[in-house]
Amino acid sequence: MARQHEWLSALAAALLFAAWVAVARGPTVPTVWQGSTLVVVDAGHGGVDPGALTADGREEKQINLAVAHGVAAALAARGVAVRLTRSRDAAITGGASTPELEARAQYANHLGATLLVSIHSNTEPTGTVVGPIVYYRAGSILAQLLANDLEAELAAATGDVHRPRPAHHLLLMKANMPAVTVELGFLSTPQDLRRLTSRAWQARLARALATGVLRYLHRQGHRP
Ligand SMILES: [Zn+2]
Repeated sequence: MARQHEWLSALAAALLFAAWVAVARGPTVPTVWQGSTLVVVDAGHGGVDPGALTADGREEKQINLAVAHGVAAALAARGVAVRLTRSRDAAITGGASTPELEARAQYANHLGATLLVSIHSNTEPTGTVVGPIVYYRAGSILAQLLANDLEAELAAATGDVHRPRPAHHLLLMKANMPAVTVELGFLSTPQDLRRLTSRAWQARLARALATGVLRYLHRQGHRP
């Protein structure tokens, strides 16, 4: 009797889980999004803060901004409301990095953003590592799911695979919504530097990120 009871409990749990999966999946991705979904895209650095500098003097902030514009345009084309923390080469506060990062998080918080994607470009000392890496707010399951969707699209677009990593970046920790930092690639690696300074590659990364955001929104049921 006890065994039958256990079996029925397991069956009930399985049916509940199947129902939850069906609801969580929802219908196919619509072509036009409406409603309260709002994505904030942050182009890292800006103004007096150039971010990382390349060997030939190029600035990280410009690459970040170009890709952020591409992501915003691709999402807007799908009907998603998007705001950029900066749309040109300027900082919000014009000052030091801690208040600047706090201001960017507050901007997304005040807007009640659905999610926040911060875009940066990486460096490392060996000059050999390539490919994008997505960092998600440590301890946030939703941010991790968002990171997984972004990483899947970036890996498909670039052929470079890096598992998403938890982080305690100030911007991520101050944001009230699922938040990730995308490092587009390594400015310190010649192969990545060539790719990251190419408009075609920037557009490719932007499309991948927009597709990943759409996939996440769809999975989480953010639609009209
Ligand atoms: Zn940066």
